[in-house]
Amino acid sequence: MSEEGRRCGFIAVLGAPNVGKSTLINHVVGTKVSIVSPKVQTTRTRVLGIHLEGPAQIVFIDTPGIFEPRRRLDRAMVAAAWGGADGADIILLLVDAERGIDRNTRGIMEKLRTSGRKGLLAVNKVDLVRKSDLLKLVSDLNETELFSDTFMISAINGDGVDDLVQNLASRVPQGPWMFPEDQISDMPQRLLAAEITREQLYLQLHQELPYSTTVETETWEQRDNGSIHIRQVIFVQRESQRAIILGKGGQRIRSLGAAARAELKEILDCKVHLFLFVKVRASWGDDPERYRDWGLDFNA
Ligand code: GDP
Ligand code: MG
Repeated sequence: MSEEGRRCGFIAVLGAPNVGKSTLINHVVGTKVSIVSPKVQTTRTRVLGIHLEGPAQIVFIDTPGIFEPRRRLDRAMVAAAWGGADGADIILLLVDAERGIDRNTRGIMEKLRTSGRKGLLAVNKVDLVRKSDLLKLVSDLNETELFSDTFMISAINGDGVDDLVQNLASRVPQGPWMFPEDQISDMPQRLLAAEITREQLYLQLHQELPYSTTVETETWEQRDNGSIHIRQVIFVQRESQRAIILGKGGQRIRSLGAAARAELKEILDCKVHLFLFVKVRASWGDDPERYRDWGLDFNA
């Protein structure tokens, strides 16, 4: 494609935890770049999802859901979200059609008003609500006059998402692409691999684990036969949590490993050997080094 007429811009995707930000971005990008889970606050740090729509390169910034920050880690995540919004060309606010305007959403709208910018509104999960309830919510949201356009979407089945993407493509500024045309994320593969294991922890252990559980990819070796050997450590804060992850006779960790390996095989498109270990490391939530690794600001 000729370089003339190209467009490129950043879209900050904001919204309360669990509204479907990561689901939307994965759907548009066409593969997993951000983990999704029914439990809140799975997105730790800024993740880019990059999509080409005709001449437009659209770069989504997936942000941790905004919530009321109390702990240091929470504050750092909120700061990261707003950092992403400040630098973005477009702010896209997602609202959960079923949950409506909750405290987090209200908080984000207040910030948007203070910033003096207009955002785009996408009401997500329209598959879950009645049309009349949906229209009432959209009208309430538009009374705030914070939005220049409204989209009703279902990120999970793609309804309305094409319209939204076309609109974003027409709005991003003219200019050269900032990423190679085949790049879909800025997340290094090692980090993505760790995120995939972390997602399985959430999916398989539900409420049993605190969200301070982290996964790190320690080694990543490409073998001559094309397969990849990955060694990861799951860090927990207490011995009791280690026992939960291992499960009876090591059953749980085997099942975690099998699910994560299947997903990695799909994404990396090659044979994957995944080795998981569990270690106890007390209170990483106060360790400045971890924050740096995650691109978060320890002093936020
Ligand atoms: P995030 O915290 O905003 O990134 O939200 P996620 O993308 O992790 O999604 C949170 C939960 O909502 C997951 O269980 C998703 O499967 C679910 N979800 C996301 N989009 C939709 C949707 O359009 N319809 C329905 N029914 N569920 C959705
Ligand atoms: Mg998310």
